[in-house]
Amino acid sequence: MRFPVRKFFSYYKPYLRLFLAVLACSIMTSAVTLVFPLLVRYITKDVLEGDLSTALQEVFAIGGLMLVLVAIQNIGNYFVDYKGHEVGARMESDMRSELFAHMQKLSLSFYDKEKAGRLMSRLTNDLLLLSELYHHGPEDYTKYFVRFIGAFCILFFINAPLTLAVFCFLPVLGLLTVYFNKMLNKALRRNKERIGDVNAQIEDSLAGIRTVKSFANESVEIEKFNRENIRFLESRKNTYKAEALFYNSFESIIQLITITVIIFGSVNIVNTDLDLADLITFLLYINFMIEPIQRLNHMSTQLQEGITGFQRFMEIMNMKPAIENKPDAVILPEIRGGIEFRQVSFRYEDHLDKVIQNLSLRIEPGEYVALVGPSGAGKTTLCSLIPRLYDVTDGEVLIDGIDVRNIDLQSLRQKIGIVLQDVYLFAGTVMENIHYGNQAASDEEVIAAAKHANAHDFIMSLPNGYHSEIGQRGVKLSGGQKQRLSIARVFLKNPPVLIFDEATSALDNESESVIKASLELLAKERTTIVIAHRLSTIRNAGRIIVLTEEGIVEQGTHDDLLARNGVYAKLYSKQFEL
Ligand code: ADP
Repeated sequence: MRFPVRKFFSYYKPYLRLFLAVLACSIMTSAVTLVFPLLVRYITKDVLEGDLSTALQEVFAIGGLMLVLVAIQNIGNYFVDYKGHEVGARMESDMRSELFAHMQKLSLSFYDKEKAGRLMSRLTNDLLLLSELYHHGPEDYTKYFVRFIGAFCILFFINAPLTLAVFCFLPVLGLLTVYFNKMLNKALRRNKERIGDVNAQIEDSLAGIRTVKSFANESVEIEKFNRENIRFLESRKNTYKAEALFYNSFESIIQLITITVIIFGSVNIVNTDLDLADLITFLLYINFMIEPIQRLNHMSTQLQEGITGFQRFMEIMNMKPAIENKPDAVILPEIRGGIEFRQVSFRYEDHLDKVIQNLSLRIEPGEYVALVGPSGAGKTTLCSLIPRLYDVTDGEVLIDGIDVRNIDLQSLRQKIGIVLQDVYLFAGTVMENIHYGNQAASDEEVIAAAKHANAHDFIMSLPNGYHSEIGQRGVKLSGGQKQRLSIARVFLKNPPVLIFDEATSALDNESESVIKASLELLAKERTTIVIAHRLSTIRNAGRIIVLTEEGIVEQGTHDDLLARNGVYAKLYSKQFEL
């Protein structure tokens, strides 16, 4: 991918004035910093070696000037530190919002491939590194450039041969930095991988803690963990070794430079080319030339990490949602709920085999059909084609005779209610969670929906009723209670088409019968498709469709299918025996 330079810089745009002010301030404070050694030189050379009767007055005046400069420098640094970081943080926040909004638009096929952890790290770590580069990058480069050039010019003006002697050491420092930079980066990368392994190990063990305990395998887990922990320790030891080697060799060369300056400077003093004040000035300025090189390592890492962060950001931003509204998509105000699959074939992205092949099926408005068959036959997949969670590979899915790809996505999905086996409740109150079905509904409508879903009574028994918090810091609900909340959501949504995907499969018999009653109430006068594992739950469906890997192999009422003594009868008798 070519690096998108324009896009990279475009995030500065809203804050350009503030950013330029920060940059100007950074240049100013660097320039002020450069003045101090000059003032010291002036005092030691011109004032103290001049007319001593006026010296005190001058020293005080310069002291005053220094105070003013210190004030300017510190106020400037305060501004740079505060506002510079703010600019970076604002840009990061803009990009994070943009990325999150984009991720929300991406289709399910994207989430099938991406792990949540990796996406989270893009939203947080990558952008954090990028924000560092955005504000520190230009600021550091200008600051060190001004200091380096300034110091070099001043030193050259004081004593050219000595300056060139110091200058000769710099390439050595540069090479050292580049060499160790590579080594350190490799070591740091390895550290990251190893800590990732440690984290994965912790996550795995904790997620499976019940299994660990039930097999009394704590010692196995401890051993596995220690293995990763020691690998991490080894890689950290290597990093510290490389770091210690780098900093100390660098320090040695700096000391060598200082010794060179002192020796050659003293020789020059003896030869009267230089005086003591110049030598002190020299020693004070050396650091200004060395510091930028010392920081090269840090700056190049910052640049690399920031650019990688940006590329990873763009990788997602450049992904187009697999499912989007057509420009001329129709908005459906009302539908009757007729569904038709016309010679539909479907295969998941990156998978070779088709899950559904050339399937045709008509479901009349208001019909109650059950979809049964062995697990993996494609029942869920088939249903997910109706709200266009995925698009067909071939053929058409029609609602009231209109291809779903020609319907405005939001208006399509508003017409379809799905109750899944795994209910997801968001952090928040019970009320907020039911509201999720229809944000515009009133609280009274929420309560009515909860009553229809047989959820009102248990909600009222919670510590804060409808305002009880759910989730980590709130109440824990049973599977059946969660399911009733999810049904209340769909009551509130009030869609003409319903899909129950194994909604009662994981429940015990008692919860199942309560939930079955609310599902039947919900299904009244709506087109309903029930995917059921337990065949006892769909006995009275108007039509039972048996789907296997070969497609639809049988359909009819429960009695029809039993009489036929085919796949359904076999499935049924198997469950009955169980
Ligand atoms: P059923 O609901 O009948 O149990 P599914 O529709 O869940 O069957 O799955 C049908 C096939 O598609 C299975 O082989 C399953 O592994 C595969 N499959 C399901 N979801 C995905 C997905 N998101 N990505 C890739 N393959 C999938």
